[in-house]
Amino acid sequence: MSNDEKDKLGELMHNSRIARELEWARKHEEELLAKLRARKGGAEANANCPECAQKLVEDAEHGTGGLVCPERHGAWLSWDTIVKMLDRLAHPKSD
Ligand SMILES: [Zn+2]
Repeated sequence: MSNDEKDKLGELMHNSRIARELEWARKHEEELLAKLRARKGGAEANANCPECAQKLVEDAEHGTGGLVCPERHGAWLSWDTIVKMLDRLAHPKSD
């Protein structure tokens, strides 16, 4: 195999890796959007950040079920979730 052929092969492999990564990102985003749609437009699904006015997005990272500003200015959590978190902080051993 010539060096030129190796370069082309390397380029093809690189491009297919990028294509796979883009496909994964697209699927991941679709799943998040499906979750948001499943909420059926509750007040929080349409919330915007008071700091930068961007639409809040689901907090997939921590699984709180809350919404966060994409710029991490703040978050919206249900009151029940906050009470549960405070309870866990106050009683770290109980589960
Ligand atoms: Zn913001």
